[in-house]
Amino acid sequence: MKKLIAANWKMNKTIKESVSFVKELNELIKREKNAEVVICPPFTALEALSKELKSQKSENQILLGAQNMHYEENGAFTGEISAAMLMEIGCEYVILGHSERREIFCEHDALINRKVITALKHSLNPILCVGENLEQKKTGKAKEAIGNQLKNCLNGISKNQISKISIAYEPVWAISKGDPNHKAATKEDAENGHSFIRDFLIKMHGRDAAESTRIIYGGSMKPENAKELLSMPNINGGLVGNASLSAKSFAEIIKSVIS
Ligand code: PEP
Repeated sequence: MKKLIAANWKMNKTIKESVSFVKELNELIKREKNAEVVICPPFTALEALSKELKSQKSENQILLGAQNMHYEENGAFTGEISAAMLMEIGCEYVILGHSERREIFCEHDALINRKVITALKHSLNPILCVGENLEQKKTGKAKEAIGNQLKNCLNGISKNQISKISIAYEPVWAISKGDPNHKAATKEDAENGHSFIRDFLIKMHGRDAAESTRIIYGGSMKPENAKELLSMPNINGGLVGNASLSAKSFAEIIKSVIS
């Protein structure tokens, strides 16, 4: 199982900036084969990036992902994007249930579950975000919160489908919100969360299915801490926000993956 390193650009970068980023990144990671690399730009840059990525010659093909989608196939949902639209444009991944979608846009587990089901139906690989907030951490309710999110968001997902989903463990208190000095979880705390998620998946679908499912870490991952986080046994990659906005720092994170 290759480690997955995914960039979540959030509401950053114009089309022009996005294209010049992936040209630079491609040069920097051309010979890196240890990680699967995914860029999730804003919707407006998907088409231009899809064309640019198809034209790149590299040993490490950069893949395309979206930051969100709607669970319905089509219809009267102003401002929304469907799974079929994302597939048509060349996406292979979609981030679902990000804490910013949960907090700012009031997305709840049942809705996220419908999105996961629709994404899989269209062969889009979900990156499903879970993680406790500061209050839940302080009151000792982190595991209960993560367990509930997993139970609800993975409702109805079969043993054969689970490994198509990457679970992103993103402790909300560790997300940088653009502050480059924000502290990530320690490698021990992150591993503790990841092994809880692994055990949860083992109970749900057995060891084989659980061990072929990626659990990736998100929350202030940067060149300075990527190697130690990515060396932990249950950390199968990273979802990177702020540090993915510079091609150089994102490339350094990719190069931190040891096969
Ligand atoms: C995120 O929000 O998914 C994220 C990981 O952000 P950052 O790396 O900036 O903490």
